[in-house]
Amino acid sequence: MHQRLKCSATGTQLPIDVLQNLGPTGKPLLAEYDLEAIRDRFTPDAVRTRDVRSMWKFWEVMPVDGPEEAVSLGEGITPLLSCEQRGPFADYRSLFIKDESFNPTGSFKARGMSAAVTRARALGARAVALPSAGNAAGAATYYAARAGMECYLFMPEDTPPANIIESVVGGAHVFLVNGLISDCGKLVRQGCDRFGWFDLSTLKEPFRVEGKKTMGYELPFDFEAAPGIQEFTLPDVIFYPTGGGTGLIGMWKAFDEMEELGWIDSRRPRMVAVQAEGCAPIVKAFEEGADHAPLFPNAHTVAAGLRVPIAVGDFLMLQALRKSQGTAVRISDRELMQGVSEISRCQGIYACPEGGAVWMACQKLRAQGWLKPEERIVLFNTGTGLKYNHLMNVSGLPTLDHHDPKCLDQVANTTERL
Ligand SMILES: *Cc1c(COP(=O)(O)O)cnc(C)c1O
Repeated sequence: MHQRLKCSATGTQLPIDVLQNLGPTGKPLLAEYDLEAIRDRFTPDAVRTRDVRSMWKFWEVMPVDGPEEAVSLGEGITPLLSCEQRGPFADYRSLFIKDESFNPTGSFKARGMSAAVTRARALGARAVALPSAGNAAGAATYYAARAGMECYLFMPEDTPPANIIESVVGGAHVFLVNGLISDCGKLVRQGCDRFGWFDLSTLKEPFRVEGKKTMGYELPFDFEAAPGIQEFTLPDVIFYPTGGGTGLIGMWKAFDEMEELGWIDSRRPRMVAVQAEGCAPIVKAFEEGADHAPLFPNAHTVAAGLRVPIAVGDFLMLQALRKSQGTAVRISDRELMQGVSEISRCQGIYACPEGGAVWMACQKLRAQGWLKPEERIVLFNTGTGLKYNHLMNVSGLPTLDHHDPKCLDQVANTTERL
């Protein structure tokens, strides 16, 4: 169990035994553990031999005293798939996709929600609320359902249908809002004050980061099992599709904890934040050398997970990018959908647009010489393409008249649709 909650900007400590949102100056709180005390028993070997089939196998650095306390649906422990050297992937010798689409509700939002709902329930929350224009909604719905809690969701009207439908089916109280995610956020804050819900907005409570940091803990275990590597090690480069930045901040935190535990040395992967051209506040701030990223005006992209025009964790993301000698890349909607198609066809993974974006960013940095194709590279496919079926253009399919004895002639005439 964590020992402290500390403000990420000022270092102020807050009590851990009551529900907390942001710190006193409006910045995210982060959990700290007595790593020195668990160093001897929380070892890679201990983790390797345990029988917990979820991210809660890392429970010593999570907000519980044991894995049985978790609100879990089997999240985490996703495959690190080695890419087939085929088509545009041909030259990469050590390229991997961490496929987060295996998670409950089809995205890595499950990791964060599992941890946040676990802690919220333990501290007595009966209802949670959040704004969402994408996968956070479904994840919150199903972890709340599992925990026996109420879930209030405020979603922009143009949220993808899959995200709305799964939330309604899962029993969440869904409200569509004629505005942006930021307008939804305002209603959530007012609702929390008025109705006593607990605010689960990203980085506005301390534990979604704790859930997502397990992606960082999993990587060296994935690599030691990977053909051609078999070494307890981190990659050279990580590509992360960045919205609120929870996963980027979480993995960076995990690496620091792992070093303090003696699992890894001080080397770090170069972290690459990938955003959409129509909503790239972090890329812009990175390029300008700024410490904070102001609101990105007229934010728009089909990649719902990247549609975050302003993030409370902006300074933490920018710190991680710079300290790691990483960078930030913007990708157009057209390019990222091409990325979806390439990953789907060449790797057999129905990628989400955010996953398509990181692959295209990898290609871009390689073309610029920032990256060598033999480096160890991890791309995060953060969710399943199934949630984005509404974006896929599959018109113009041939229709066969099975009464026509010559109908198979049409098949003979079909050229590869690529
Ligand atoms: C939420 C989301 C992201 C962005 O994640 P953050 O950790 O908040 O930056 C990326 N991809 C998908 C599919 C998402 O749902």
